[in-house]
Amino acid sequence: MNCLFCSIAEGKIPSKTIFEDDRVLAFHDINPQAPVHFLVIPKKHIATLNDMTEEDCELVGYMTYTAQRLALELGCEGGFRTVFNCREMGSQTVYHIHLHVLGQRQMNWPPG
Ligand code: 5GP
Repeated sequence: MNCLFCSIAEGKIPSKTIFEDDRVLAFHDINPQAPVHFLVIPKKHIATLNDMTEEDCELVGYMTYTAQRLALELGCEGGFRTVFNCREMGSQTVYHIHLHVLGQRQMNWPPG
């Protein structure tokens, strides 16, 4: 399987790592859309949120917890945005689930 984020998780492609353990990896987005913009990915390959199963609930919850913890460490105590894009209509471009975390600028609603 040729997956960009699996390759990053395996260290085959470099990234600016913020945090890593046996379940998740967090790294800075290569094309940041805010002063803070990082991605939290599971090490397990799950292509899209549509492919998530009930057994992945704890893992995805842990991704969210990791996002919150790192956002606070990176100075986003005033708030931040988390986003999962899902498939074409959701503007997903990398088919390995990832939680975007954006902060340190005012976010708007609705998103584009
Ligand atoms: P999506 O549109 O799938 O929700 O978001 C994919 C994100 O991955 C984009 O924000 C894009 O900038 C980021 N990205 C794509 N390729 C790379 C890469 O090789 N390294 C890093 N760090 N980020 C990437």
